[in-house]
Amino acid sequence: MDLIKRAAMDLINSKYAVAFTGAGISTESGIPDYRGPNGVWRKNPEAEKRAYEIYGKFLRNPKEYWEEVQKSTIYPVLDKALPNPAHKALAELESLGILVCIITQNIDGLHQKAGSRNVLEFHGSVSKLRCIRCNSRFDKKDFISLIESGEVPRCRKCDSALKLDVVHFNEPIPMDVYVKSFEEAMKCDLMLVCGTSAVVYPAAELPRVAKRNGAKVIEINLYETSLTLEGISDYIIKGKAGEILPRIVEEVKNLKYPEDK
Ligand code: NAD
Ligand code: ZN
Repeated sequence: MDLIKRAAMDLINSKYAVAFTGAGISTESGIPDYRGPNGVWRKNPEAEKRAYEIYGKFLRNPKEYWEEVQKSTIYPVLDKALPNPAHKALAELESLGILVCIITQNIDGLHQKAGSRNVLEFHGSVSKLRCIRCNSRFDKKDFISLIESGEVPRCRKCDSALKLDVVHFNEPIPMDVYVKSFEEAMKCDLMLVCGTSAVVYPAAELPRVAKRNGAKVIEINLYETSLTLEGISDYIIKGKAGEILPRIVEEVKNLKYPEDK
């Protein structure tokens, strides 16, 4: 059977479908991934080194951290990016009552911009700030002028220095989103894994947890990943997420509402 139709039928027959997304779902919105063919780190290994150091910098000296964030060229790209057909297709699957939630590793907020409501941002969000002492989160826009004037933003509850909500390398995943994401991975009976190389842990554990708990795992990626090779995914649909996902949604609608045709 054609894999698009198979995925549509699997989605319709699922009772609790969850999507797990990575940088690959946003490449068609003009945001480079890390490890894909045009990945940031393939082109600029120095950027990878800096990424590993930035959390330590925040802990030692928040002012220097914010200076470095201000110099970054990637955050303005993320702020301006728009959702693509892949994000919109997942939002539609939610509104059709098929997808329960999205667990995303992305920090770009594009699932919410596309209309998805139930989104767990495993690695945080570029549009928020977070206090690592009391875990409060704040909208970045409320602090923009302060940050631009060179001041360190401070928590409105406990006065600690705030960092971006984005989870940097070497930084623990915030406990609230960590617990909820693993609960969803354990509860789901289908996980749609889109555009992730599934090598960044602990996020990469989520499809493996889903599989161990009996869920069907479907991958959408340009290439095979460790999930494909380890037999974690039941099958992979190879291609661009922005082309594959809308076709799956079309097929879901054809199967669910044949009278509309
Ligand atoms: P990754 O770069 O390791 O892997 C991206 C995967 O997507 C690759 O397997 C690639 O083959 C696939 N891919 C690329 N374009 C695709 C397309 N159009 N359709 C389908 N598949 C496509 O990304 P990752 O697994 O998400 O891990 C990287 C980490 O970096 C994440 O944890 C995330 O927090 C962060 N990150 C986020 C963004 C973002 O917010 N948009 C961008 C870059 C990195
Ligand atoms: Zn605080």
